[in-house]
Amino acid sequence: MQGITSTCIPSFEYSRTLARLLDASAKKRKEDKVRKNWPEGTRMCVALTFDLDAETFWFSRSMDTINNPNLMAEGAYGPRVGVPRILDMLDRQGLKATFFIPGWVIERHTETCREIVRRGHEVGYHGYLHEKAYFPEQDRELVAKSRKIMKELLGV
Ligand SMILES: [Zn+2]
Repeated sequence: MQGITSTCIPSFEYSRTLARLLDASAKKRKEDKVRKNWPEGTRMCVALTFDLDAETFWFSRSMDTINNPNLMAEGAYGPRVGVPRILDMLDRQGLKATFFIPGWVIERHTETCREIVRRGHEVGYHGYLHEKAYFPEQDRELVAKSRKIMKELLGV
């Protein structure tokens, strides 16, 4: 029994080490393949994403918040003030980003959302009212509704 244990443990350790080395090698090959498409000298990739929830940040918690002007003003601050500042900063840095935007926000703050697209940024689905979909059918309906809004109002 002891002899089996003494031969199994090093063998197990050896196979774990070998597996780790093979994983690292496969990971490096995969990374090298991805890096072929990166600009010369680029060593790291970062995805910049923003959620432009606006007023829906509050709606998604409680629809009663629609009657609270302070919360609605706070929600509107993002598309009215925050996003233009972020877009200017991204332009200065020569960066592109992805903005996840609920469909309702696109309807309500259309010009801000058009400016995001006009400046070359990506727009991503973020629900209609920043809600959670609990069932696949509900999720499909929300995606279809928001996709239609994105296409009609933003052309994406
Ligand atoms: Zn969000």
